[in-house]
Parts: sequence; structure tokens; C-alpha cells
Amino acid sequence: DPRLEAISAAIRVVPDFPKKGIMFQDITTLLLDHKAFKHTIDIFVDRYKDMHISVVAGVEARGFMFGPSIALAIGAKFVPLRKPGKLPGKVISESYELEYGHDRLEMHVDAVEPRERVIIIDDLVATGGTLSAAISLMESQGAEVVECACVIGLPEVKGQHKLEGKPLYVLVEPS
Ligand code: 5GP
Repeated sequence: DPRLEAISAAIRVVPDFPKKGIMFQDITTLLLDHKAFKHTIDIFVDRYKDMHISVVAGVEARGFMFGPSIALAIGAKFVPLRKPGKLPGKVISESYELEYGHDRLEMHVDAVEPRERVIIIDDLVATGGTLSAAISLMESQGAEVVECACVIGLPEVKGQHKLEGKPLYVLVEPS
């Protein structure tokens, strides 16, 4: 797909951010490039529009930048999965490992119904820890995670195609 080259080229790599040794994949430059941003959304929409998806769940914060456009285009609702203490209603919570320590993701308990078909979206998958927590949140409510989707995947996970037994769909590798 020739669109993937434009998407890859629009992602800026920032060395040593947020700390030394990390090559940060910056998707804000993708959002500045109308063509590349539209290609990104179009590819996901084409993939999911006929899969009877009723929920697009986005991971805070950069999953929020792609999820709602996809949800509107495929006729699904958007569910934010947030960092602890941000959601005002009754939440369920799932913790996950980070390189140093751990973090949590939360979801409103009334955001999804049992058996709803869900895709989970984030900008980047590295270890898969964040997406695994997102899968657990959805499954704890009886929802069915059809696929996890990311714009960028590290080569290890991009070749993997699975996460917690769920399909993983990734557009590009870091450049
Ligand atoms: P994982 O849990 O798969 O190890 O890490 C994925 C999470 O870390 C995602 O929520 C993603 O937004 C964030 N992340 C880690 N490294 C980068 C990076 O280089 N660029 C961006 N945009 N996000 C990153």
C-alpha cells in the first residue's frame, strides 16, 4: 500500500525524548499532514467498516487522536480508556507493567455492553503491556475484542500479529 510510505514519512523521530537513549516516535507531525493523517484514518476505516464493530476504544492520550474519527466513520461509539483518577463515573481498573514500575488504565463500567464487538486503538505498541490491560478491561465487561490496532509497531510486535490471543494490526514500523 503506497499510503504507508507517506504515513511513515510524516512521523517525526525525536532522539533522547523523554529521556536519553529513547528514539521517540512523534505522531503530532502526522496530524499536521492532512494527506497522511487521512490515509491513516481511511486504512483503519476500510478495514473495520464491515466487521460489525460497535465500539472503538482509545488509549489515553494518543489513542484519543485516532479513535474518534474511526468511530464516527464506521458508525461505532468511542470509549476512552484513561489514566487513573480521570473518569468521574464508576470505573473498573487494570494495572500493567512499565519499564520502571507500573501504571493503570480505567474505563467506565457502563461504557460497553456484554458481547459488543470492540477494536482497541493506540498510536504505538512496544511491549504490548498497555494494550493487554485494555483487552482485560473490555473482557471483564463481557465485550469481545475483535482486534487491536496501532499506527506504529516495533518490529518484534509487528511480526507477531497477536496479543493475548487477539489479532494485532499495525501500519508501520519505527523509522
Ligand atoms: P507498551 O505498553 O506497548 O510497551 O507501550 C505502548 C505505549 O507507550 C503507548 O500508549 C504509546 O503511546 C507509548 N509510547 C511508548 N513509546 C512511544 C514512542 O516512541 N512514541 C509514542 N508516540 N508513544 C510511545
